[in-house]
Amino acid sequence: MSYQCVMCHKAMDGEPALKNGAGTFCPPCREVIRTRLAEAMAARRQARLGPDGRPTCTWCGRAIKDGQAGVCQTCDGHRDWVLKTVRRTDRLARYVARIEEKEAPERTAREQLREQTRRRFEEQKPLPLAAPDPVAQRLERVEAMLAKMLEAWS
Ligand SMILES: [Zn+2]
Ligand SMILES: [Zn+2]
Repeated sequence: MSYQCVMCHKAMDGEPALKNGAGTFCPPCREVIRTRLAEAMAARRQARLGPDGRPTCTWCGRAIKDGQAGVCQTCDGHRDWVLKTVRRTDRLARYVARIEEKEAPERTAREQLREQTRRRFEEQKPLPLAAPDPVAQRLERVEAMLAKMLEAWS
């Protein structure tokens, strides 16, 4: 069959490499999507790293061991307790909200300091970043739609 790739707009013969709600894609364009998605996932992983470049817990910020996904063991263990508590009463939520509000200035200052430290670290160890190109920019719109499907492939 012949089809037109929605990304490069070329008329192609054969089976589309990818077909979804966004349209049909030719093999080279699918590879571009795959690469961009892998880069986006690496960037997301990088954003979670601590100042020393090691992965940290998204809840408490402590370093986590390799292979642990996002949240440290302690925080993961406390999650059940948090859920149990907030399902019974909103006291915990109110308490947290109060502390959060009270400590907001300090927290913001700490976050800014962390961000500065991380940026310094990244400047010392620059990541190989791909230069932005028009194809990649066009891609961003379809990426979200494709993300789930491509994650299932990898
Ligand atoms: Zn194409
Ligand atoms: Zn933690």
